[in-house]
Amino acid sequence: MGQERGNNDDRLLSVNKMLRYDVYKEELLDPFLGVRVMVMDAYFYKGLRDRLYETFQSGAARILYEMGLGYGLIMGRIIDEQGKGRIDLYREFLQRGKYHGMAHFQVPTLEAIISELRGEIVVRARNSFFAETVGQTGHAECNIFAGYIAGAARVVLHKDYDCVEEKCVSKKDDYCEFRLKQRK
Ligand SMILES: [Zn+2]
Repeated sequence: MGQERGNNDDRLLSVNKMLRYDVYKEELLDPFLGVRVMVMDAYFYKGLRDRLYETFQSGAARILYEMGLGYGLIMGRIIDEQGKGRIDLYREFLQRGKYHGMAHFQVPTLEAIISELRGEIVVRARNSFFAETVGQTGHAECNIFAGYIAGAARVVLHKDYDCVEEKCVSKKDDYCEFRLKQRK
């Protein structure tokens, strides 16, 4: 953050491929999924998050996780319907996360997971919106992503997964890392 990389015109990419504005409906649209989009800025999330922690203390992390899980279940269903074996489909979802400003997700074992040579499933996220927005707290802050990954994996892989964020930028790690664990 804060690095100078030329002037702003060079480094600001247009994300029009990922977002469209429907001038008739006056709505922002995600053309990939065909759903309406609302942009959440850093203050918006920080306001939500801080108030949630003030009100529910340690329960807030669980609430955020369950909220993310609900989103993951919907995304898992969409992946399932569109053909879950297609690696390009997963890549499009990862790209979508990046260009929607969530994080730059990487799944090092993606090919193995899709060809059902499962092994351990780890998801890495660089530049997480949630961690970068909240800053250093000493705790994992990307509970929404952890829930999202668990929810999507439950639907797509048909197993009862939980997801733990083992590394987080908010705990001074270089990136965030999520591990899926099958429920016993
Ligand atoms: Zn994180």
